[in-house]
Amino acid sequence: MADAGLYVHVPFCAVKCPYCAFASCTRLDLVPSWRDAVLVEAARRARRFDTFDTLYLGGGTPGLLPEDLLAGLVQGLRGALPFAPDVECTIEANPADVTRGRAAAWRTLGVNRASLGVQSFDDDDLRFLGRRHDAAGAVAALDALRAAGFEDVGIDLIYGLPGQTRQSWRATLDRALSFRPTHLSCYGLTVEPRTPLARLVRTGRVVLADESTFEARFLETSDVLSSRGYVHYEVSNFALGEGRQSRHNGKYWRHVPYLGLGPAAHSFDGARRWWNVRSVEAWVGRIARGRLPTAASERPTAEQRRLEILALGFRTRRGVELSVLRETPSSAAILESQVADGRLVVDAGRARPTVRGMLVADALARAFA
Ligand code: SF4
Repeated sequence: MADAGLYVHVPFCAVKCPYCAFASCTRLDLVPSWRDAVLVEAARRARRFDTFDTLYLGGGTPGLLPEDLLAGLVQGLRGALPFAPDVECTIEANPADVTRGRAAAWRTLGVNRASLGVQSFDDDDLRFLGRRHDAAGAVAALDALRAAGFEDVGIDLIYGLPGQTRQSWRATLDRALSFRPTHLSCYGLTVEPRTPLARLVRTGRVVLADESTFEARFLETSDVLSSRGYVHYEVSNFALGEGRQSRHNGKYWRHVPYLGLGPAAHSFDGARRWWNVRSVEAWVGRIARGRLPTAASERPTAEQRRLEILALGFRTRRGVELSVLRETPSSAAILESQVADGRLVVDAGRARPTVRGMLVADALARAFA
C-alpha cells in the first residue's frame, strides 16, 4: 500500500476572517497545551499506520506558531512516527506572519513546501476579506520565502468577490504568475452558514457574483494558467508540471490512508475513518484524561466507497476507471452523452473530466451514481 499522509491541524488564527467556517479560534493561550496534546495523540494513533511520506501543517494558521514551539512539534512527530526518507513537508502560512527569519527556521526543520494564503493582490479585495495583509505584504512574504530557499511555493487565491471585475481578477492572476509559483489554488468565494459574511449576504449588505460570473472566472483561470504551463489537475488546483502536484492532497482524492492529528482532524486507515472533536478545549481535555479525542467513526460500505470514488475522481484530471463506471446501469449511454457534450474524455481505461467537466464534477458523479 502507498505511504500514508500525516495532517496536523493547527486550530489558531490571529483574527477570524468573516467568510471562514474552518475549525479555528483566536485562543493563542492554548497553543502550548495543543502542541503537547498533538504529540500524545500521535503516539496513541501510531500503530494503525506504517510509514508517512507527507507531513502537512494546515489550519488555522500554522505560520503564526513560534519557531521554537514548531521545532519541538516537528521533532516530536519525527520521534513518534515512522517517516519515509523523502517527506513532502508543507506549511500553510498567511503573508502577515512570514518573515525571512521564520521562513529560514521552517527550512531548517525540513519544511520544503509553503502554501501562502494571499487570496488577492488587490487591496480592496483584501479589506473585504478581512485579511491582515495588503498586496505589498503578500509580495514581501513571497520574497522572504524565496530568500529562505523555498523552491516549492504555492499561492492561494479567491475569485468571485463582490466588486472584483474580470480585469482585477486578471491583474491578481498575472501578479501571482510573476512569482512563478510551483502551485496555485484558485477558489470561488463560498458563503458558509453562520459566518459574518452569511449575515451580510442575508441582509443584502453584500451582493455576491452570479453563477455565470463564477463559471466565466473558472474557465478563464484554467485557460490562462494552462497557457502558462500549469496543469489543472483538480477543480481548484494547478501545478507547474506533474511533479509539483500536492502529494499530500492526492492521498485524500485517491483513498490512500492518512492520519489527522488535532481538533476536527479527519483520518482514514484504509478501512475505517474517524474524525476528532472540533473544540480545542474539548480535544485537549479528552487527551489529558487518557481518552482518544474521536468524535465519531465509520466503516464505509462498498457502495459508499464507489460513490466517493465517483465524487472525488471527477474532481481530478485522473478521472474514474471505466470498470467503476460499468457498475452503473446504462453507463455506456451516459458516458457517450457526456463525451458528446464535451464533459468527459476516455483515455487509457479512464473517464477523465475536461475543464468543462470539472466545472460540473458533482453532476457527473450523480449521473453515474
Ligand atoms: S486565516 Fe484562514 S483559517 Fe484563519 S480565519 Fe482566516 S481564512 Fe480562516
